[in-house]
Amino acid sequence: MVLVSNLKKTLLFITLSSFIKSSIALEQFITCINNGDIALTFDDGPSLDYTSRILDILDYEDVKATFFVNGMNTCDLKNNQVARDIIKREYESGHVIASHTYSHPLTGITPLGEKKLTFEINALNNILYDIVGVKPAFFRPPLGEYTPENAIVLENCGITANILWNLDSEDWNSQYNATQQYVDILGTSDPSVSSFITLNHDIQEVTAMQNLPIVIPYIKSLGYRFVTMDVCTGMSAYQDGSNPPKVSTNSTSYKKGNNPYIPITSNLNSNGNTYGNTYGMSNNMNSYDAVNNEGITFDLEAGGAIHSHSFGLFALSFLFIIFYLI
Ligand SMILES: [Zn+2]
Repeated sequence: MVLVSNLKKTLLFITLSSFIKSSIALEQFITCINNGDIALTFDDGPSLDYTSRILDILDYEDVKATFFVNGMNTCDLKNNQVARDIIKREYESGHVIASHTYSHPLTGITPLGEKKLTFEINALNNILYDIVGVKPAFFRPPLGEYTPENAIVLENCGITANILWNLDSEDWNSQYNATQQYVDILGTSDPSVSSFITLNHDIQEVTAMQNLPIVIPYIKSLGYRFVTMDVCTGMSAYQDGSNPPKVSTNSTSYKKGNNPYIPITSNLNSNGNTYGNTYGMSNNMNSYDAVNNEGITFDLEAGGAIHSHSFGLFALSFLFIIFYLI
């Protein structure tokens, strides 16, 4: 009996201390907090080849997104004026600038010790602060992986949330078709019970030239609301507590005529992201109907996406039930 009592006390201690610890730990999101919201996110930029076009498309559609940027990936952000201007445009257009490390280590951040990871965060933060006067509060680990030790370092660098995803466009992967990925996952989802954080890369040609012009109207047709990461998470985008400026590009005069960004032909029938030189001025292409006609399959449990907080609460309740039964 004494043994059982001690066991109960130990379990209670472990449960409470793990709850207290998790309540102050770095947040993690794989979906938005509100159903019906969808956050487009772009990693690995800025790209001197494609990011400006992506910003043009977002302006045309009056959609705001979140960019997880690097300091030294496809270009040297500190010293390249074109890259700096792209970051400035992203910020001033009302998109969210978030961190994806300074150098995008090929190994991800899991092998990095405190000193190296601190450098990866602070070196990028200093460049961004120099360009736009803010430091990101949101972080996405390269490869999507991090350790509890990484999380402590990230917190110490002012990061408040790690942002993962529940819709992967696979735009870098020739085995997949990015547009079809969206259709497969969103096609049978229900905005009243689902929300999405989508993973894209603004260094990928297929995203800039084909996928984005097609999937944005498609997503609109499904009734989702585009949000930036601050709205998606209910947290501040920047370490000083600020959020992106509210900027609208929704002007009817701006949108006269057909959408100039939709490609004449798409690679929807091909097996992978093999997009070539097939874009150009659209005729009367109805993009999302074209997508819908491809036939929809459902690979992921879009409707069953669980916010990690809800899961934590569920796990805590489960532990208390076990404790009570002993
Ligand atoms: Zn990346």
